[in-house]
Amino acid sequence: MKESLMDIICCPEDKHELELSVEERDDDEEIIEGTLTCTECGEAYPIEDGIPNLLPPDMREEAAA
Ligand SMILES: [Zn+2]
Repeated sequence: MKESLMDIICCPEDKHELELSVEERDDDEEIIEGTLTCTECGEAYPIEDGIPNLLPPDMREEAAA
């Protein structure tokens, strides 16, 4: 994902801002791996293979099952 995406995405639970923590970037400055943490509820949303997973935790488990 591009870092500019931070301007438009927010916590799906409470619509607050997310704090970005980058673990890996590619040559185009796109974020490959990292974590988005809600500044309000503290929920962490993973970025995997360049795609932010903004599903709420309970739905995330269902999707994986
Ligand atoms: Zn939140």
